[in-house]
Amino acid sequence: MNNSKTKIFGVLGHPIEHSLSPVMHKAFFKEKKIDADYFAFDVDDKNLGNAIHGADALKFCGLNVTIPHKISVMKYIDEISEEANLINAVNTIKFDYIKNLIIGYNTDGIGAIKAIEKNLNEGLKGKKIFICGAGGAARAIIFSALLNNAEISIYNRTIEKADLIRKEVKEKLNKQIKITKNFDLKERLKDSDIIINATSVGMFPNVDKSAINEDDIPKGKIVMDIVYNPIETKFLEFAKKRNCKVIDGVDMLVEQGAEALKIWLDIEADENLIGIMRRAVIEKLKNKLKN
Ligand code: NAP
Repeated sequence: MNNSKTKIFGVLGHPIEHSLSPVMHKAFFKEKKIDADYFAFDVDDKNLGNAIHGADALKFCGLNVTIPHKISVMKYIDEISEEANLINAVNTIKFDYIKNLIIGYNTDGIGAIKAIEKNLNEGLKGKKIFICGAGGAARAIIFSALLNNAEISIYNRTIEKADLIRKEVKEKLNKQIKITKNFDLKERLKDSDIIINATSVGMFPNVDKSAINEDDIPKGKIVMDIVYNPIETKFLEFAKKRNCKVIDGVDMLVEQGAEALKIWLDIEADENLIGIMRRAVIEKLKNKLKN
């Protein structure tokens, strides 16, 4: 039962009804016996500032921010973390009532990195990552992976967007990343250690699509899809057939959520908690498919 001491969290987005964040965070609070609750709020662009300042006035503990507000929310924030500044997007807000500050973070990139490192059992330093996509999620993963000293090659339908990221990386980090074109796709895939789909290709309802054809996936690589609905995408199905080790999008979702909880509550989710959050998400996804 909520009372005046209950810690309130939420996610702002539009649309938001399919968000998995409430079940994931509630599973964490329940397991840790924390008096807290988490709600999904459908907020359109014109009300975003009011929503942030209203949550501040109501003494919310923290917010997540999702599509389409991850960039526009930055103008309502007092302090932005170094990583969120690099990525140029915020997905986590902490209200610091002692310093009277609204602080913005980005946990998408680090969430993806954690998911890979845990599956790999080692760090990303020197690993060659091939990433499909140049949207918001791809940007987050690219900057976080570069901060972890990985090497990056981007492949995107709209090559100009990949090129913009390349220029920005050079400017902000003084690092080089490669752009892959169709003619050198197979070569670059073979030359990589980790292949990531960070496009929305294969996401429900277009579940028969894959960002990369089965025959082009080299055997025995680490393959990750950040799409989590369905849990096993066509791309991951292909990768399994090619004897690759696969990492699904739920792993990243849970790890970015765990990073947000660390920022808000200063509690590190151990593997037991990560498992509990993952099972809550999977159960919700399976129920969605039934309905
Ligand atoms: P976004 O900013 O809209 O970017 C979409 C990306 O997908 C772009 O690179 C776009 O290419 C590409 N794309 C879309 N349709 C395509 C098609 N038919 N063929 C080829 N490429 C196509 O979206 P986002 O925020 O980066 O999210 C991307 C996906 O990641 C979504 O499915 C989202 O649900 C998922 N996601 C997962 C997590 C997680 O925690 N697991 C976190 C964030 C996002 P163009 O540049 O050519 O348009």
